[in-house]
Amino acid sequence: MRVRGEYDVVVCGAGTAGVISAIGASRSGARTLLVEQYGSVGGILSLGMALLGSADAEGFKALGGIGGELVETLKKSSGSTDITVDPLFGSVLGHDPELTKLLLLKMAEEAGVHFLLHSFVVETLMDGTTLKGILVANKGGLEVIHGKAFVDCTGDADVVARANGEFTFGREKDSLAQPVSSIFRVGGVNLDKTWDYLDTHPEDMSTPDGWSGESYSRGFLRQTPGATIEGFRSLILKAQEAGDYHIPRDRLGINTFPNRSEVTINITRVHGIDGTNPDHITHAEIESQKQMFEAIGFLRKYVPGFENCHIVSTPYQVGVRESRHIKGDYVLTKEDVMEGRDFSDQIGRGAYPLDVHDVKPGDESLGRSVSGGGVTLWKIPRSYGIPARCLIPKGLNNVTVGGRAISATHEAAGSVRGQAVGMVTGHAAGVIAALASLNSTTTSGIDIAEVQTMLKGQGAILERTVPVV
Ligand SMILES: Cc1cc2nc3c(=O)[nH]c(=O)nc-3n(C[C@H](O)[C@H](O)[C@H](O)COP(=O)(O)OP(=O)(O)OC[C@H]3O[C@@H](n4cnc5c(N)ncnc54)[C@H](O)[C@@H]3O)c2cc1C
Repeated sequence: MRVRGEYDVVVCGAGTAGVISAIGASRSGARTLLVEQYGSVGGILSLGMALLGSADAEGFKALGGIGGELVETLKKSSGSTDITVDPLFGSVLGHDPELTKLLLLKMAEEAGVHFLLHSFVVETLMDGTTLKGILVANKGGLEVIHGKAFVDCTGDADVVARANGEFTFGREKDSLAQPVSSIFRVGGVNLDKTWDYLDTHPEDMSTPDGWSGESYSRGFLRQTPGATIEGFRSLILKAQEAGDYHIPRDRLGINTFPNRSEVTINITRVHGIDGTNPDHITHAEIESQKQMFEAIGFLRKYVPGFENCHIVSTPYQVGVRESRHIKGDYVLTKEDVMEGRDFSDQIGRGAYPLDVHDVKPGDESLGRSVSGGGVTLWKIPRSYGIPARCLIPKGLNNVTVGGRAISATHEAAGSVRGQAVGMVTGHAAGVIAALASLNSTTTSGIDIAEVQTMLKGQGAILERTVPVV
């Protein structure tokens, strides 16, 4: 077995949170290695959905730091829209997913991050509760990588699970998780025709029953640079009545990017999947890829403006909304999120709404009818603070977690999983790991004031004081 030299920080998973985390660790002075199973970076961020909740619905920024820098760099390269403060999603920012991947890679390289791509973390090497190394499988066989501190940004908390850290799975009452979906992009769309259709069929633009946000007006839709909409219910019903195409949702989700004929489509859905179970995930891939075939036929036949559309890209893997939640010394709750609470050890802010897709079709787990769209979405007017304690798994000395697996309840995780929040937690997880490694202390023993100072020095927004201009 090959052994790779020791790093101060090893970040596992180069997705939404992981790349930002590695940049944060490296800029904090740590010799950092970023390990990823695929050949590119960005993870689910690179599928083309709009970046939602980088600011809250009252117009205060939540995303700063390295994530904020990415957004500014994208904007300069014409790769993103301005932030639009949004009644439903806090804020919407459309971005070019391919450019995002490349820019993230460039930023990481410039920060001095070392890379190991095409390498899957399969096991951990422990000394009591200290993680000494990880075992990866790649084209060279098996390889051991030693580190002083580790950041788990695998989305599924694979490292924490292998290292016997504490975690829960899915929702509290039955350990079931939100459904998975394959997001894909289509080109050749005439959006003017689509908006014209909505002008004459406003009922197809209404927000789903059970969503607490206001409906978008078509005027808003035409003006806003990057839109995220759900609708076209009557067209799906028409297809279903005609026995045409299998569409698993009753709303079509569309993300637009200004001046482009290419949109991101969110319509596939598979329930009952454990994203950490290889058989489940295989089934989910096959099922959601078949659903994409059906969806493209439906779009061409039924949705005005999509008559000549074609598939531009299918995702590198099915999108998992929820799996393991690590257990930290604090578990973020729905109330923390809804009330915009602050914490003395906060490392950043979240402003993505509570967005929980039905765990089972027609589910009423959240105590309200969510029959429309299969989603419960509560807008949060004010961003909330994220405690450092949510990033540090109990029972492990030198591990932090960034991204959708941080310590949160099933409901709060509906907000934490947003891309902007993932970048915020990824950044902080990298900085905490770097300081723990450089100061030879545990991740839970770290001086939180030092972490907060370092994060602020790297542009992170810890207080709700920065308005969108
Ligand atoms: C279908 C869907 C739609 C969504 N829509 C939106 C939206 O419109 N707007 C929004 O803001 N958010 C949206 N989200 C949420 C958001 O995109 C994700 O929750 C977020 O990007 C996840 O970030 P992450 O870093 O935790 O995980 P990921 O981005 O998934 O990154 C995890 C990385 O770790 C790698 N990895 C995993 N396991 C291993 C291993 N064992 N070894 C090595 N590498 C590994 C993966 O390959 C990946 O690169 C959506 C999510 C889904 C699934």
